[in-house]
Formats: sequence, C-alpha cells, structure tokens
Amino acid sequence: MLEKVVIANRGEIALRILRACHELGIKTVAVFSEVDREQKHVFLADEAVCIGPAASAESYLNIPSVISAAEVSDAVAIHPGYGFLSENADFAERVEKSGFIFIGPRAETIRLMGDKVSAIKTMKDAGIPCVPGSDGPLGEDMDEISLIAREIGYPVIIKASGGGGGRGMRVVHSEASLKNAISMTKSEALVAFGNDMVYMEKFLEHPRHIEIQVLADEHGNVIHLGERDCSMQRRHQKVIEEAPAPGITDAIRKEIGNRCVEACRAISYRGAGTFEFLYEDGNFYFIEMNTRVQVEHPVTEMITGVDIVKEQLRIANSEELKIRQKDIRFNGHAIECRINAEDPDTFMPSPGTVEHFHPPGGPGIRVETHVYQGYKIPPHYDSMIGKIIAHSESRELALARMKMALAEVVIDGIKTNIPLHQRLIDDGSFMAGGTDIHYLENKLGLK
Ligand code: ADP
Repeated sequence: MLEKVVIANRGEIALRILRACHELGIKTVAVFSEVDREQKHVFLADEAVCIGPAASAESYLNIPSVISAAEVSDAVAIHPGYGFLSENADFAERVEKSGFIFIGPRAETIRLMGDKVSAIKTMKDAGIPCVPGSDGPLGEDMDEISLIAREIGYPVIIKASGGGGGRGMRVVHSEASLKNAISMTKSEALVAFGNDMVYMEKFLEHPRHIEIQVLADEHGNVIHLGERDCSMQRRHQKVIEEAPAPGITDAIRKEIGNRCVEACRAISYRGAGTFEFLYEDGNFYFIEMNTRVQVEHPVTEMITGVDIVKEQLRIANSEELKIRQKDIRFNGHAIECRINAEDPDTFMPSPGTVEHFHPPGGPGIRVETHVYQGYKIPPHYDSMIGKIIAHSESRELALARMKMALAEVVIDGIKTNIPLHQRLIDDGSFMAGGTDIHYLENKLGLK
C-alpha cells in the first residue's frame, strides 16, 4: 500500500481522507493554514505541516507549498479532496513531475474535462447524451449565433467554458438580450476564470440534477455505483442529496450507468469520477464531469457499501478494482443534508466558536464533520461544516431518521442552516420525491 499520503485539504473531507488512510495502514500528513492548527485531522495526523497564511491563495491553493509538504515529510502521494486544487490539471502535473502520485485522474484528463466545451465534445463522441446547444464555442458572428439560438429555441443559457462552482452562467429569454448576455458572460468569465470562451445550451426549465458515480482503475476496469439526485439547490449549490434518485428504475440506471462506464473506457479514465446530468421528461443531458471525490459521495457509500475514498487510494496504488459491476447491490435509501455555518434566512456566513456540540446518532445515522465543542470556525473558507447522512431500507424511513437527527443535533454559538433542512425534510413535495432544480429557490421566494 501507499506508505504516506499528504492530505491537501481541510475540514470534513480532510478528516474523511485521514480515516480512510489510517484504516488501510497509510500514514498521513496534514497540511494547514495558520488559522487551521486546531482542526481535528491536524491533531490526528501522523505529521502536520503549516503551508501558509489564512488566505487560500497563499496556503491551500499554493502549489509549491503543498508539494514541499510532501517533500519534507517523505510522502509518496497527495490526495486533493474536493475544491481547492482538486481539479487543477497544472497541480496534478506538477505533483507527478515532482515524483509523487496524484490521487485522481491523469492531468490530461482533468484538463480535458475542466474545459466544458472540450468535455462536452468528448462525451458526445463517446455516446453520452448532451444538452442541445452550440456544439462548441460561440464566435463573433452575431447572425450565426442568433440562428443557433433560434434553432435551439429560447430560453437558452450562455455558459463559460472554464466556469465552475455555479458561476459564469446567464439565461437568455429572447433575441433582444442575446448579444448583451454573451458579452457580459464573456467579460465576467475572463476575470473569474482567465478564459472568455463561452458556449450556448438550451435552458431546461424543469430538470432534475442526477449524477452517476464511477470508479476506474488504470488496468481498464470500470464500474458505476448508480446515481444520486442533487436537485435541491440554491444558487446552483447543492443543499440536500440522495441515492437512489426517486423514480429511476433499474433499467434506466443500467442504461445510463453503462454509457458512463463506456465513456470512461473511451478516455482511459482513472480514479473516482462523477458524470453530472440534467434529467427532464425521461431524458438525460450531460452537463459536466467532476474528476474528484464529491461532497455527496457518502449517500452512494451507504447504499452500495463501497468505500469510495479507500477505492481512490487503492487505485492510486495501481491495484485492480476488486468489485465487479455484477457485485454492486443497491440497498435501501440514503439522504444527506449539508450543514453550513450560515444564517438560515439570509444565508450570510456565521463563523465563530462552537460553544456546544452534540452530534445526532442511532441506527443509520452517519455524521461527517471536523467540528467539536470549542472549535473556532474561521471566516476564510467555505461555510460547510459537515454533513448528516441518514440511511434506511426505504426513502420514507430515511426521511424519518433524518428528521430525528436534525432534531437531536445541537450546535450552539453559531448559526446553521439546520432550521432550513427541517423545513425541507417536512416539505410535502420533497417528501413525495422528484422535485426539480428550481424548487428550493421558488420555495424560498428567490425567483
Ligand atoms: P458548475 O460547474 O458551475 O457547477 P454546471 O454546468 O454543473 O456548472 O451547472 C450547475 C447548475 O446550473 C446545474 O446543476 C443546473 O442547476 C444549472 N444549469 C446548468 N446548465 C443548465 C441548462 N442547460 N438548463 C438549466 N439549468 C442549467
């Protein structure tokens, strides 16, 4: 097995990776910024290295600092987690050039999938259904662009090829605002992503967000672990996720899952990955691929019994996947609520000291968090402080367990979005299952 791994991340995912490493007998090196010394995984790691000041750009996003942490600790591999450098192809390349294993796909795969225009083209060629659109970047000729928009039919969405994190998108309802929308998206994209390439897609008006989890080793073995429904979103950010997706039959799962497996073979994919789709009127439309572990991976783990992070480590160690597609069984239903340190009404971040913390428990409840009593949540990073996952034999019982867990958990000293989750878990439409990606914002009166 890998001897020693640098965990190039923070928070709950750093702790999650540490646990997977220790279970496999792998030594861990935590890296932390100056305000992150008191994190749980920093205490638990075999070694810990400070990689710079609080600002992410100078610590968690600082490639030379992260790589030198691997050098000084004699580690063999680097796990990037999600966010930060996890989908940075230059980072993956420099990690490998420095003689370490990057726990993820090859740099060229990350590069290919990180650019949405090239990702869509590659996936289309590999037989993955995509959203009707411009099939490539938009040029300068407005007549041509207007024609494409008319052919697709309004509303359309202008998206930045280099976009991510729900940014760099603009919906256009009529030809009158097309030109302006394109130039605004282009200039925003240039500032935010250093690349002003944009493309056009049909704007789907009531889709669900359904994604397929895959695992691929470097020997050509590929499996899928079924789907997750992540339609409960605010500002294109996921709030609640579940697996399986309500209404997705075995036959549908098999069909789309197999196509994703074939696409992985076509691009010689390596590691864990997710194909994200919009799902409307029984059709799947590919929107992007995430070439890393995702926040919502535990719901898939709960229903399949596969430990996705341990599989990432084994794949990075050049092992063959031991699990075959025919061994995958989907057992019951799992729901995840992302717990954010934020005001449940205004969504303003609420950093500060956690005065009291009592996690929920009982059968089928899993808590992934780095928070403990007395922990000080710094204001510098994402507001997500953990996740509660409820698993049971049916969706109804998983919802009942989640409801109890949300009532049990105590997090004092800061504000959290738990009251929002309580409303959602009790919401008639959500309880019925299958709400679309606009449901939450409509419910909150944001649309
Ligand atoms: P990002 O990389 O920023 O997450 P995505 O392409 O994955 O961008 O899109 C994020 C979200 O934006 C989707 O989950 C969906 O809610 C919305 N979205 C993206 N493309 C479309 C589309 N063609 N029609 C409707 N909604 C869309």
